[in-house]
Amino acid sequence: PDQFESPDFYQLDDLLTPEQKLVRSAMRDFVKREITPIIDDHAQRAEFPEGILAKFGQIGAFGTTLPVEYGGGGLDQISYGLMMQEIERGDSAMRSTVSVQSSLVMYPIYAFGSDEQKAKYLPKLAKGELVGCFGLTEANHGSNPGGMETAFIERSDYFLLNGSKLWITNAPIADVAVVWAKNEQGKIRGLIVERGMEGFSTNEIERKWSLRASRTGELTFTDVKVPKGNLLPEAAGLKAPLQCLDQARYGIAWGAVGAAMDCYEAARKYTLERIQFDKPIASFQLVQKKLAEMLTDITKAQLLCWRLGMLKNAGTATTAQISLAKRDNVDMALRVARTCRQLLGGMGITGDYPIMRHMMNLESVVTYEGTHDIHLLILGAEITGISAFK
Ligand code: FAD
Repeated sequence: PDQFESPDFYQLDDLLTPEQKLVRSAMRDFVKREITPIIDDHAQRAEFPEGILAKFGQIGAFGTTLPVEYGGGGLDQISYGLMMQEIERGDSAMRSTVSVQSSLVMYPIYAFGSDEQKAKYLPKLAKGELVGCFGLTEANHGSNPGGMETAFIERSDYFLLNGSKLWITNAPIADVAVVWAKNEQGKIRGLIVERGMEGFSTNEIERKWSLRASRTGELTFTDVKVPKGNLLPEAAGLKAPLQCLDQARYGIAWGAVGAAMDCYEAARKYTLERIQFDKPIASFQLVQKKLAEMLTDITKAQLLCWRLGMLKNAGTATTAQISLAKRDNVDMALRVARTCRQLLGGMGITGDYPIMRHMMNLESVVTYEGTHDIHLLILGAEITGISAFK
């Protein structure tokens, strides 16, 4: 069944520019063609669709908001958000790959890198010729990345890097890793580590029940000699990686809406067709209540994204505003996925419909890029001026 209709109950389309609508429909067609037909198989087999990287590169999914001179798309933040929405309507694992490449690898190189680093990496990352990953989380430091133990010391002509990172999206396939580590003064800096550097290895995390079509792994550094030219000159302190996370979380707020819309459309169509007690189940009040509440939730989340996008376009969106949208939209999408799963009865647990896959994927999305509770505490600190988590 065609799941690509979108609920647009408040005529949000009127708020979009022709360019934004064009970007959305191009990505929607791409997802229909390249992701939806293959994604269930790949997720079932826990395989990443390798060929997708070059295709994402061709359609301009990487570095959407970065300047054209570095291979970016030069597009605005709402166009970027709409792309994330459409990709995650296909699958959160695919959106994760694009988020990491665009917001957590290209963005820091663009924002904090030297001219040489930008010229060397950005055009290839934009084309999908290189894949990147972002190493912040460690086994013992997840919600509290400032406690990281990965560190480097300065030698005459290189930095000597030791430590490890866990739960890293794209790690097993990455050519380059943006790695956050402490220098001898305990200050967090960013280093570009390349596959092939001696002492750098990646291990895969197997047997995930979530984001099965995404490859997640560990980065291990044992006396890796990182050339001095690979230090991101403009990134100092935890605020640099957190600034990258703001970009990615903004995209996730949109992406979650895409996953919710896909579940909602599948369930809406199913309940109109499925007959029980001689009637479509959509004719029962309890089913209508679920559909009405989901449409309400999706509509509110869409408006939140649009307004946040406008604030981002104006350059004024704050971390706390992004936390609110990431937290609430992902929570909304999880609730919608669980409700839709039940509306499909037994069919809801099969791969014939996308719902169970979205539901399992969203269990990662609610945890990564700041957990549901950490975002609540960021808001709590914003409201009260008192941090409850440090
Ligand atoms: P913990 O920090 O141990 O948290 C466990 C629980 O404790 C959570 O419910 C949390 O909310 C709660 N908690 C922690 N501190 C507090 C507090 N002060 N008050 C109240 N509750 C608290 N990281 C990267 O760097 N790069 C990646 O590419 C990346 N990709 C990922 C992909 C996947 C599939 C997953 C699952 C994770 C990924 N992560 C990545 C890591 C992710 O960001 C972390 O899992 C997340 O930050 C949470 O850290 P943790 O898993 O160590 O949980």
